[in-house]
Amino acid sequence: MTIKSFHPPQRTLMGPGPSDVNPRVLEAMSRPTIGHLDPVFVGMMDEVKTLLKYAFQTKNELTMPVSAPGSAGMETCFANLVELGDKVIVCQNGVFGGRMKENVERCGGIAVMVEDAWGEAVNPQKLEEALQANSDAKIVAFVHAETSTGAQSDVKILVEMAHKHDCLTIVDAVTSLGGTPVRVDEWQIDAIYSGTQKCLSCTPGLSPVSFSERALDKVRNRSSKVQSWFLDLNLVMGYWGGEGKRAYHHTAPINALYGLHESLVILQEEGLDNAWARHAKHHQALRAGLEAMGLSFIVDEASRLPQLNAVSIPEGIDDATVRATLLRDYSLEIGAGLGVMAGKVWRIGLMGYACNARNVLTCLGALDDVLSRHNAAIERGVAVASAQTVLAAKA
Ligand SMILES: *Cc1c(COP(=O)(O)O)cnc(C)c1O
Repeated sequence: MTIKSFHPPQRTLMGPGPSDVNPRVLEAMSRPTIGHLDPVFVGMMDEVKTLLKYAFQTKNELTMPVSAPGSAGMETCFANLVELGDKVIVCQNGVFGGRMKENVERCGGIAVMVEDAWGEAVNPQKLEEALQANSDAKIVAFVHAETSTGAQSDVKILVEMAHKHDCLTIVDAVTSLGGTPVRVDEWQIDAIYSGTQKCLSCTPGLSPVSFSERALDKVRNRSSKVQSWFLDLNLVMGYWGGEGKRAYHHTAPINALYGLHESLVILQEEGLDNAWARHAKHHQALRAGLEAMGLSFIVDEASRLPQLNAVSIPEGIDDATVRATLLRDYSLEIGAGLGVMAGKVWRIGLMGYACNARNVLTCLGALDDVLSRHNAAIERGVAVASAQTVLAAKA
């Protein structure tokens, strides 16, 4: 048997990520590979840092992409900031908060969990109580945009509380960056990580991170070595830090970085405010269609993420069958429920390049058709028109 070149089908990616990649990003990634210490490449790395500072709204010197997916950005934050015996308060309201707990424990820290119901935002009052009950806590960690449920938490308030109790903060912005406001300096976030495949319209595999001086002080003054050699910022900073001179640490994923560079140029061209407004507007259009059809959101309007729409699956409808039909007939991918939400919800992403009118209408039309064919108790033939009304309205 001869295995031939792999040619993936053209899909529309409206799940929890990866989302549709801008063709300009794919084109940039196919440009010639050059050496990672080539002065031209080093110049591009500096531009990536500058563009990431814009995306994160920060002046933090240590703002760079970790050479691995979002989970590695998460691990970079915990591995560098948590030392043996450190108490870390983790606010959990979905799947990703649970991974934070795992990270704390694997770094030898003690995780104090503050639990909120899935689908709700992190409750600041509960965090305040945990901070008072644990005056020896060193760090507070939480997820800004919980991709497992579509709930958004109030970063500014949570960080303020943590700081009042002398705790550093670790914030997961994997799904929020580029889709909804993230203001690292204004909100005084100490350590933050994101991913490239959600609202940045890029391929998966890189994790932008940013560390404040306060957080770096802790990293520089650790009493023990960071347990991960690859993620130790004290070493990585020699490669990504400073201007000009670079020491070899690992080989950067060169072409992947061309892609990130291009995606950040696109974000800069559009402007953050416009990108956030685009996500909000298309969310409203999708919402109008889904609600007209009779589907309901699981997250309260006040904490609903525009880029991740979690809706209940209608009674008697088989989750997997519908998603498989959407993929087969429409080449459309939507997300399944995770963890306790499995089989109960669909997660419809409107992230980055995928957040556009065509995708909103395609998704609504496809769902209308497939659910009708499965005799779901929905209002038929109204979803697309409802979304059109919102799309036609002036911003
Ligand atoms: C996707 C995601 C991650 C993990 O990112 P990977 O690139 O899959 O490793 C972490 N946190 C949140 C909130 C996410 O949505």
